Amino acid sequence: MHNKHVNKLREYFYNKDAALHKTVIEADKKYTPLNMADRNAVFQIEINDEILHQWAQKAVHGGHFSDLHQEDVDIKASNKWLSNGDLYAETEGYLLAIQDRVLPTRNYKKYILNTPHTEDKCRRCGQNGETIEHILNVCSTLAPTKYTIRHDNVAKIVHQNLAVKHHLLEQKCPYFKYSPEAVLESNTHKLMWNRSIITDKAIQHNRPDIILTIKNEMITYLIDIAVPWNRNLSNTHNRKIQKYSELASEIKRVWRQREVHTIPVVLSSTGLIPKKLHKSLQSLGLQQYLYMELQKASILQTCHLVRNFLHHSQEAEEFWKTTISNSKFKVRAPREASSFIMQLELLRVSYPIVEQQLAGEVHFRLKR
Ligand SMILES: [Zn+2]
Repeated sequence: MHNKHVNKLREYFYNKDAALHKTVIEADKKYTPLNMADRNAVFQIEINDEILHQWAQKAVHGGHFSDLHQEDVDIKASNKWLSNGDLYAETEGYLLAIQDRVLPTRNYKKYILNTPHTEDKCRRCGQNGETIEHILNVCSTLAPTKYTIRHDNVAKIVHQNLAVKHHLLEQKCPYFKYSPEAVLESNTHKLMWNRSIITDKAIQHNRPDIILTIKNEMITYLIDIAVPWNRNLSNTHNRKIQKYSELASEIKRVWRQREVHTIPVVLSSTGLIPKKLHKSLQSLGLQQYLYMELQKASILQTCHLVRNFLHHSQEAEEFWKTTISNSKFKVRAPREASSFIMQLELLRVSYPIVEQQLAGEVHFRLKR
């Protein structure tokens, strides 16, 4: 990249006829990286293919390469967050580390760093191996909170853009401040957020994230969001359509619609953009570039949750390890007690033998 720019700049100067440029060329005897006085200097451009090949061969880091090169993934759009440059450098670096799977998860410590005496089960749920994939999309302790926030952030962006487009809202606010109304309605449009649809026939999946009805055209869109792991994004998309097919035909009949379409909005938790996402946004008449906003929302929450998981809980773990090894201590305030019990819950894999006695104060000690 660097050498490519150097070569381009040298070319630019050599092709100018102006006296100023000529003087600069003569004067630049290694004063700048361009070293223009030496016309024969060679700045080799590294062959990208070779670097890409090396990347693809790596057992751990290569995982993202292969995710990125799945047939249904739009590579350029998936890397857009890097070229847009509107994230903090620290966040960019952190997401790259997540994508390359080089963060100190227990799985990484055990199998890559070969740290002795390392438990590889998840420190929170204790059920599966603690990999990046597990932390990002699978952990049962994060599903009801962190994953829902990420999902809803993406959904809010879609909802707000539809509301503004159809004049149900006058202006936009940042998605993290936006709280969608359950129902927004005008003479021409109706937009619903997270509402169960009651039908004559009991239907299991009757609550898509967003429902948009364009009244005069008698068209309804069932919009459902998913922010899954990097693999099988197309399957997730197709499953959504299947999931709501029954509801779609029921709505068509009962609401007397001409057309009912299920529109999945799917992108991965590390920001991979499936080709089908463009089509979904287009079907909804949303701007082509909205995927960038969705991508940013997804990766910001992903970085936040991984940071929180690995670093904050790691500190907590160390802290409680030392505390528990003191074997006897008291916790007075109920808040402190509940946070303590929660921590013990989280540590139950490593410390199964703690008992508590409640007597005004809460006492804990290790069983001997
Ligand atoms: Zn877990």
